[in-house]
Parts: sequence; structure tokens; C-alpha cells
Amino acid sequence: MAALDFVYQARAGRVIFGAGSLQHLGREVLALGAERALVLCTPEQRASAEMIAARLGPRAAGLFDQAAMHVPIEVARDARALAARLNADCAVAIGGGSTIGLGKAIALESGLPILAIPTTYAGSEMTPIYGLSEAGLKRTGTDLRVLPRTVIYDPELTLTLPVPMAVASGINAMAHAAEGLYARDANPVTSLMAEEALRALAAGLPAVVAQTDDLGARGQALYGAWLAGSVLGSVGMALHHKLCHTLGGSFGLPHAQTHTVVLAHALAYNAGAAPQAMARIARALGVDDAALGVYELARRCGAPLALRELGLAEADLDRAADIAAANPYWNPRPIARAGLRSLLQAAFEGAPPRAPH
Ligand code: NAD
Repeated sequence: MAALDFVYQARAGRVIFGAGSLQHLGREVLALGAERALVLCTPEQRASAEMIAARLGPRAAGLFDQAAMHVPIEVARDARALAARLNADCAVAIGGGSTIGLGKAIALESGLPILAIPTTYAGSEMTPIYGLSEAGLKRTGTDLRVLPRTVIYDPELTLTLPVPMAVASGINAMAHAAEGLYARDANPVTSLMAEEALRALAAGLPAVVAQTDDLGARGQALYGAWLAGSVLGSVGMALHHKLCHTLGGSFGLPHAQTHTVVLAHALAYNAGAAPQAMARIARALGVDDAALGVYELARRCGAPLALRELGLAEADLDRAADIAAANPYWNPRPIARAGLRSLLQAAFEGAPPRAPH
């Protein structure tokens, strides 16, 4: 029996989970000692943010509805200025990773506590990682000030998430858990969370597809997303996330859908080097092969399977392989440009995953 030897870093944060848990919003804002909340959302989710502001009544100081993908610095500056002008003492972010990312941009500068109400499965609410983009370049960093202090997970708020987005966002969450299982700094606690995340998402997503208003299924998926986000916030990610950042950052591919296509291929690449992680992923999915299991799940749920469907040109594959191979980073299997290139070719075509030589 191998001896246990690990570091586990718990991340502070209070989680309120359950259908209808939004009813506790007032209590939770009060518990933060806040009296002047700035509510954040994207333009598309303004109605939800207005509902939040109405619930907060006099504790809502204002609403900012310009959250956008990858937190453009101009948007962050406007939101920070509004928070200062309103003398806000808390940011309430309702939405996906873009809106929670905007809350983080405010907290990074001001230290304002964030109460996050996630409505996708991206998992940003459980991480101390922030991102800001300026002139087309995205800068990321880690700072404990940006970790939301309270998170309300209410599956009712995810009922409006269209099924294709729910599937893509859910497989995005599965990627955090899957890579967390073979992370260099994985530990028994995050691995438990990761396997349970994969199990909940693999059960929840097809059930959401089968019946979009199944609140139990939406709850399973959101529960999995919470655990997967916790894993993302605790251990390092590898090849899959690096490839997705390359494809999103340098070629403008959509965030969650890119994760959906690439995950099966990244797992196939790493399979031989991380057999225990693969066994746990396969067990969570109830299949024999982790990579094929993810591919089949995506296919069954009607997700895009090919990078060509997301707008990538075949002529870009060489440059994508160059960029992804350029900065060395840890991965269970060493990164070799030729292997990456054939991985990308398979992902481009939507072929079933297989380990590149
Ligand atoms: P998103 O936040 O950009 O949301 C996509 C769209 O869906 C938006 O228009 C949003 O308003 C809408 N939407 C969200 N929830 C909805 C709902 N329930 N009903 C109807 N519409 C809804 O997408 P995302 O995938 O959640 O987040 C992606 C961003 O988050 C990226 O910028 C990514 O880099 C970042 N991210 C950061 C971290 C981190 O730890 N810092 C983790 C994951 C993702």
C-alpha cells in the first residue's frame, strides 16, 4: 500500500444549494455585513438582475448590465467606477463565468466581497482565478480577494439555460474534474470531488436533454458543476485547458463548446500516462474507456464534436499546435508537437478519440 503524502488547500467560501435557495439572498447579503450591493449581469440577463435588485430592495445600490466574455478592461473600469460612485459594499453577480469574472475584476481592485449566483456550469465562482482582456490579449492571475465569499446555487435559475449551452457548459465543467484527477498536485479530497462531479454531470446532462425542465436533473448538473469548480480552484490544469485557452485566445473559438470538443481527445492523449485517473473517469461515467465515454456522452447530448463546426479553419491547425507546444507546461504525458498536431486534426474532424503516437 502506497503511503499518503499530499497538500490540501481548502478554499474559504459559503455555499447555499437547492431549488428555491435564492430566497435566502437577503439573509446572505446581511451576513456579509453589506448594505449597498451592486448587482452585475450581462445585457441578456438584465431581467434576472432586476429581479435580484427587487429582492434586495433598499440593499440594492445599483445595477450594471454590461458584463461580457473575457472581461474587457474597459468594462471592468466602468463597473469599478460605478461601484466607487455608489459607495457599494458588495457585488452580487448573477450569471455565468463572464459576469462572475466582472465581479472578480471589481474585487481585485477594491476588495469588495462577492456574492455569486451562478447560472451556468463554468465554475468560476469557486476559484481565486481572474481574467482581464485588453487589446485582444487575456491576462489571468490568482488572488484570494477575488474568490466569492458566498455562492447561492439555485437550479431554478438554470432552467432558462438553453439545452445546447447547458450541455457545452456541463462538459466544460467535466473537463475541470477530469484534469483534476491527473493533476500533479491532486490529492485524495479533490479527487473525491472530481469523481463525484463527473458522476453527477454524466447523469444530469442526458436527463436535461431528455427533459429540459427536469429540476432534479438541472440540480444534479449544477451540483457537479460546483464540485468541478472546486477542483479547478484547488489544483492545476494541464493539456486540455492549455489547448482550449489557445483555441479561444488566439482563434476566437467559443469557450464552453471548445472544451466540449477537445476533452475526449485530450483524455486519449493522456490515457497511457494517467491510468488511475482514466479508471476513475470511466467509473464515474459507467463506461470502459474514459475518452470514448466523454465522446459518446457529447454525441448523445447533441453537442458539437468537431472544431470545424466551431469555425476553426484547417489551415490554422499548424499554428495552433505551434502555440500550444511553445510554452512548456506540466502534463502527465510530455507535450510533443507531432502528437498535438494529430490530436488537433482528430478534434477538427470530429473523429473518435485515439491516442496519438
Ligand atoms: P458566459 O458567462 O459568457 O454566458 C454565456 C451567455 O449565456 C451570456 O449571454 C449569459 O448571459 C447567458 N446565460 C448565462 N446563464 C444563463 C441562463 N441560466 N439562462 C439564460 N442565459 C444564460 O459563459 P460561461 O461559459 O459561463 O463563462 C465563460 C467565461 O468565464 C470565459 O470568459 C471563461 O474564461 C470564464 N471562466 C473563468 C473561470 C475562472 O476560474 N476564472 C472559470 C470558468 C470560466
